[in-house]
Amino acid sequence: MEKLCRFGTNRVIEPKGVLPQAATKIDNTMIVKDNEILIDVITLNIDSASFTQIKQACNKDVNKMEEMILDIVNTRGKMQNPVTGSGGMLIGVVKEVGSAYPVSTVQAGDKIATLVSLSLTPLKIDKIHSINITNDQVHISGQAILFETGIFAKVPEDMDEHLVLAALDVAGAPAQVDKLVKEGDSVVIIGAAGKSGVLCAYQAMKNAGPNGTVIGVVNEEWQVQLLQDLRLCHSVVLADATNALEVYDKVLAVNGEQVDVTINVVNVQNTEMSCILVTKDTGIVYFFSMATSFTKAALGAEGVGSDVTMIIGNGYTKGHAELTLNLVNNAPKIKALFEQKYT
Ligand code: NAP
Repeated sequence: MEKLCRFGTNRVIEPKGVLPQAATKIDNTMIVKDNEILIDVITLNIDSASFTQIKQACNKDVNKMEEMILDIVNTRGKMQNPVTGSGGMLIGVVKEVGSAYPVSTVQAGDKIATLVSLSLTPLKIDKIHSINITNDQVHISGQAILFETGIFAKVPEDMDEHLVLAALDVAGAPAQVDKLVKEGDSVVIIGAAGKSGVLCAYQAMKNAGPNGTVIGVVNEEWQVQLLQDLRLCHSVVLADATNALEVYDKVLAVNGEQVDVTINVVNVQNTEMSCILVTKDTGIVYFFSMATSFTKAALGAEGVGSDVTMIIGNGYTKGHAELTLNLVNNAPKIKALFEQKYT
C-alpha cells in the first residue's frame, strides 16, 4: 500500500524528492487519497504579482490570459506562475473528504477558502468562465486537492464568498502587522492603496495608536484621495516605489527621520531599496510582496550600510484568517471598498 505523505509529496512528478511547491510538475488526478480533500472549485484568486505578470505578458487580452492560465495548469498540474513562482488561493465546495483526513470538522458540502498557495495545490480546470481583469479573480469549473497539511477556512455564511476570497488571499499581511507594529511606532506602507495595503494601514493605525505615525506610499493621485477619505494613514506620499531616492526624500520630508517599521505590499519588482532606505537601522522591513528579490534586499541593505531586520512575508501566521475577517467586518469603509471591488 502507498505510504501517504502529509505534505503531498506523493503527488510530485518532477523533480522527484522535492515538496509540491518546489516541483515543476505535480499529479493533478482528481481521485482523492486517504489524507486529502477534494474540492469543486468556484473561483481562483490569482496572486497579484502573478496576475500582473500574466496581464502584462498578454497585453490585457483576456483570451490570451485564459490560454496562458490553462497552459500553466495543464503543464504544471497547479497554478504556479513560472515567472513569479507564486500562486494565489481558491474558494470551492468540499466534494469528498479522504478517510484518514485529520480534521473532523470538515465535510462534503462545506464551502471553504484554501489558505495554502495555489503554487502547491493540485488543480484541474475544466472551463474558465470569466476573468475579472480588475480584481485578479478567475471563475472556473474545475477541481482541486488539499493535502493533510493544507490549511483552510470555512467561508462564513453571512459574508459574500468573493469578498472572503479577496480578504483571505492576503490575510497574512495585516496579521503580521499586528505582530510587528507597537504603540508609538512610525510605519510606512509601500503600496498602501492595494488590497493588502488598506488592511495593513488599518491595522498599523490601530497598533501604533495616537502617538504613532502611519505613512502610505502610493503611485497614483486617486489613491492619495482614497486613503485620505478612508482615514487609513496620517500622511500619504505620492511616489514611485521603484524609485528609492524619491520615496526616501518624500517620506523624510513628511516624517523628519526614518521609520520603525516598513511594510512592502506592492505587486511589482525593484522596490526593495525604497523600503530599506526609509527604515531605521534598528527597524524592521516586512516584505509581503511576491515580487521581492532576496538578493536585491540582502545586497542592497549591505550596500548602504543598513543593519535593518528584514522579514520574508510568510503568508501564514496563527489566527490570520480570523483577524482579517474581523478587521473587514469591523471597518465598514474597508468592507464597502471590498464589496465594490470584489463582489
Ligand atoms: P494589489 O491589490 O494589486 O496592490 C498592490 C498595490 O501596489 C497597488 O495599489 C498598486 O498600485 C501598487 N503599486 C504598484 N506599483 C507601484 C509603484 N511603482 N509604486 C507604488 N505603488 C505601486 O495587491 P495585493 O493583493 O494587495 O498583493 C500585494 C503583494 O502581496 C503582491 O506582491 C502579492 O503577490 C503579494 N502576496 C503575498 C502573499 C504572501 O503570502 N506573502 C500572499 C498574497 C499576496 P496600482 O494599482 O496603481 O498599480
